[in-house]
Amino acid sequence: MDGSPRLFTQMCGHFEMDARFSTPGDPELQYPCIMFDLPDSRILYQALLDRDPRYEGRAWVGVTSTGVFCRLTCSARKPKFENCQFYGSISDCLEAGFRACKRCGPLAEAAADDPTVQKLLTALDAQPHKRWSEADIVRFGYDPSNVRRVFKRQFGLTFLELARLRRLKEGFTTLRAGETVLAAQIESGFESPSAFRAAFAALIGIAPGAFRKDALLQADWIETPLGSMVAISCQHRLHLLEFVDRKALATEVRRLLERQPGGLGIGTTPPTEQVRQELRAFFAGRSSTFQTPCALHGTAFEREVWAALQQIPAGETRSYSDLAAALGRPSSTRAVARANGKNQLAIIVPCHRILAANGDLTGYGGGLWRKRKLITLETSYQERE
Ligand SMILES: [Zn+2]
Repeated sequence: MDGSPRLFTQMCGHFEMDARFSTPGDPELQYPCIMFDLPDSRILYQALLDRDPRYEGRAWVGVTSTGVFCRLTCSARKPKFENCQFYGSISDCLEAGFRACKRCGPLAEAAADDPTVQKLLTALDAQPHKRWSEADIVRFGYDPSNVRRVFKRQFGLTFLELARLRRLKEGFTTLRAGETVLAAQIESGFESPSAFRAAFAALIGIAPGAFRKDALLQADWIETPLGSMVAISCQHRLHLLEFVDRKALATEVRRLLERQPGGLGIGTTPPTEQVRQELRAFFAGRSSTFQTPCALHGTAFEREVWAALQQIPAGETRSYSDLAAALGRPSSTRAVARANGKNQLAIIVPCHRILAANGDLTGYGGGLWRKRKLITLETSYQERE
């Protein structure tokens, strides 16, 4: 419970599945091993319908359709079973990206007997966007180490961790409303898996708790010198690799999920690990070859174009008409350009090696500055060969 936030999220992810598959039994016997010994989620769902008070302080429900977490006794209308995820601690709910329900107030309930906690939670509610610091706690007249201990005991998270999660969520709520705050968030990279989870969920328009641990496809982020990338892969193949701030990313992910059923989770798989290593070597100037197995989701023509792009050596560039000619379809320049734009494997399928016939950079989904840097980097590969 006291692990780092990173560890915590991973445990939390496993836990979602474990809860579902754990043996049903008498809840009295299973408490207080809260982390892995919650009863079967069907039993908890019945308790939720019954507003069973025996689970107060032991089990909470995250509702994936609303992004809110509740006490099982909440008086609000009950969600469908498939939208429920049960957690054994408040910090699990928060780390999974759920915010506290206003009606049943799970945070306030947990802190009912502690005026310090109450006061700080109220202050946080009033200013969820603020970057809270220890100095603020001192300004309230509290001892920071005491506050840290009290919050840790109540919620498994410190006040500042709680405030950070909250700020993150507020930021992405704003984003969903259409304002572009994402750019600033991702420019500095993701601080933790929960930051990535929240940002990525907002980007593709789902509740952060809706990711499935047992999903076929797993999304993870990869830091590169040109900014964060998202990698989505199954156990065997890489399906998508894009810079996080690419405008079409949300559309691409949705299209991928339609073509490839089996759900989406947050996590890493062998292909993601492999491409992470290969990208590191690529940016370090050690190797321009990628051998990560890839799934190419596209029409036969699109796949043909992507294969042709992969034939262009690093350090060289082509125009669309060159490419169309190479494919034996000299009149299909525009179709080739469209297929180029549909590429979902940035860098690996090197659509950045396409320039306008006059040598101009033309467009690039990842931004022209990146295209320029990629071409410059690859020139160094050519000089050595
Ligand atoms: Zn509630």
